Amino acid sequence: MSPANAKLNAFPVFMRVEGEAVAIVGGGAEALAKARLVGQSSAALRIITPTIEPELSAFVAEAGVRHVAAAYEASHLEGAVMVFAASGDEELDRRVALDARRLGIPVNAVDRPELCDFFTPALVNRAPVAIAIGTEGAGPVLAQMLRGRIDQMLSPSLGSLAALAASLRAAAEKILPKGNARRRFWNSFFQGGPARAVEAGELGRAHDAAVDLLLSSAPAAGHVALVGAGPGAEDLLTLRAHRLLMEADVIVHDALVPEAVVAMGRRDAERLPVGKRKGCHTKSQAEINALLVELGRQGKRVVRLKSGDPLVFGRAGEEMAALRDAGIAYEVVPGVTAAFAAAADFELPLTLRGVSSSMVFTTGHDLKGNSLPDWAKLAISGATVAVYMGRSVAAEVAGRLIEAGLSPDTAVAIVENASLGHRRRFHGTLADLPSLEARADLSGPVMTIIGDAVAGANFERSEPLAAYRREDAITAAEGAQS
Ligand code: SAH
Repeated sequence: MSPANAKLNAFPVFMRVEGEAVAIVGGGAEALAKARLVGQSSAALRIITPTIEPELSAFVAEAGVRHVAAAYEASHLEGAVMVFAASGDEELDRRVALDARRLGIPVNAVDRPELCDFFTPALVNRAPVAIAIGTEGAGPVLAQMLRGRIDQMLSPSLGSLAALAASLRAAAEKILPKGNARRRFWNSFFQGGPARAVEAGELGRAHDAAVDLLLSSAPAAGHVALVGAGPGAEDLLTLRAHRLLMEADVIVHDALVPEAVVAMGRRDAERLPVGKRKGCHTKSQAEINALLVELGRQGKRVVRLKSGDPLVFGRAGEEMAALRDAGIAYEVVPGVTAAFAAAADFELPLTLRGVSSSMVFTTGHDLKGNSLPDWAKLAISGATVAVYMGRSVAAEVAGRLIEAGLSPDTAVAIVENASLGHRRRFHGTLADLPSLEARADLSGPVMTIIGDAVAGANFERSEPLAAYRREDAITAAEGAQS
């Protein structure tokens, strides 16, 4: 922990450089790094070096930078607002630093903190928004790591949003009284409809939404994002899902979504588990639909978090219909579905040249009737079949597929808790599949993949399905209890 009274020895500021000269002395890698950094601004770069390396030379040509092709002299620095001593030559850098200081120009000397008037930050650039990270020399690696983290938290369109805000500033100040009303407007602007339209790349619509917001005194409209949480591992969440989670007022999540993902939301966000684990429905689908509508009406930003992809066996269709009927804005954020996570865990090619060129997502719960569903025919013609929620119907699925003509030797791969550290993998054939139903040792979600393409998987880390005996499981369960 740093002491509570820790003081910064370098104080961050943003300096106006538009059109101003910035001098860099040097012709190699150090100079190029500084040129690239300062080149993110609208300063007029001046590179002073008699010899120039090809990469820097290419940068100079591309960025239209002024190159002073001469041995360094103090007069080259004149008129500059900032100087970089980046020649890689200790003696020369020292001379440059002393000259700059004499001329009253702030200087930065590469890798020579004792000669520096200022340090350059690691930069997250969403012009006009900039986030500068400084460590006072504690470590460029640390700064770059922080830069990476912050960069992924921020929408790529943040700059456009800020530019739109700047263009509306004067109007907002004229129309809205200072204080709450103005603050409320900017809150809705940065987190509501205008921000979402910019995110979707629709700048015209964003502008219109902002103007509407400016002219109406209506409270902010709610919004629901149906977000895929992925199969379980937190880092299989998309960056967009992560961002929406951090912005949400309310997170409505299923039981299958791991706590670690839900915990990515703001600490003060309301969290509403709505169950839907087999056998313990805490809320009916109709109640969930009504809840989403109600939260939307209250003007909340809601993330409806579903395991895997929200559009795969997630009843998202019903939720979207309810939101549409109620006139509440919503969007869908895809996620990594369980079949893809299971395939990755098995290094299993879901499509395989010459073997399988189509894929079926099914639950197997439609096999009970007399007629075979269409997907069974697809399986027979070579499709790879991913069975969701298939544990309790494993025998039915195997029996009907074999009866329909699929070979009992067809390969089967099964993953419990795909993508998670404690995952278990099993391999076998269609003839072994019925044993899955009796396995008391599997308590997590299970994905079953059937088809000839499964033979292309890696079975080095999987257990044979056929080896399972009920007694083993009972002994194991007893062992775990004691
Ligand atoms: N929308 C989700 C599926 C919800 S249905 C998705 O796209 O993945 C729930 C079923 O998904 C479970 O019964 C199981 O078959 C499968 N499933 C979800 N997470 C899983 C995981 N980590 N490992 C294996 N199967 C999983």
